[in-house]
Amino acid sequence: MSVLDLIFAPADILSKTANKVQNLDKTTKKFVNDMFDTMYENNGVGLAAPQVNKSLQILVMDCSPKNEKANPKVLINPKIKSFSQEEKIYEEGCLSFPGHYLEVLRPSEVKINYLDLNGKENEELFKGFESVCVQHEIDHLSGTLFVEYVSRLKRQIILKKMQKFKRFKVNKK
Ligand SMILES: [Zn+2]
Repeated sequence: MSVLDLIFAPADILSKTANKVQNLDKTTKKFVNDMFDTMYENNGVGLAAPQVNKSLQILVMDCSPKNEKANPKVLINPKIKSFSQEEKIYEEGCLSFPGHYLEVLRPSEVKINYLDLNGKENEELFKGFESVCVQHEIDHLSGTLFVEYVSRLKRQIILKKMQKFKRFKVNKK
């Protein structure tokens, strides 16, 4: 088990489109395991590879309610195929923005194509909280952060706070 270092915003890697995964070798599989370790260790429900400093189109998630059976999912090279007209607001958090929660409006359901860890093609309809989570993580793979859904002013305030938070972290090391 290895828990990887999280990248906190603002950071270049978090604003870039991640590279497609070309081969699912042992290294990639170990990396996916490390992503799960990192997500669970930090009490997250989702994690995208750029958040641990890897420019790869990989996301992991587990939106199962606490005290219920784990439901880990890994999506490689995911693509949103379609989404519902209906939209919903959820309060979202992000491991790259510790302590910040924002209300974001998104389509309530999405259909996604992706490869699983064995390289098999999947098509899956995501609903409810899983839909929120998967859309948030897919955004990370194209360098979009959840602060982009709120007003410019609010975004600037949060990014300033994050800069302070990062300086504080560096000083403590
Ligand atoms: Zn996030």
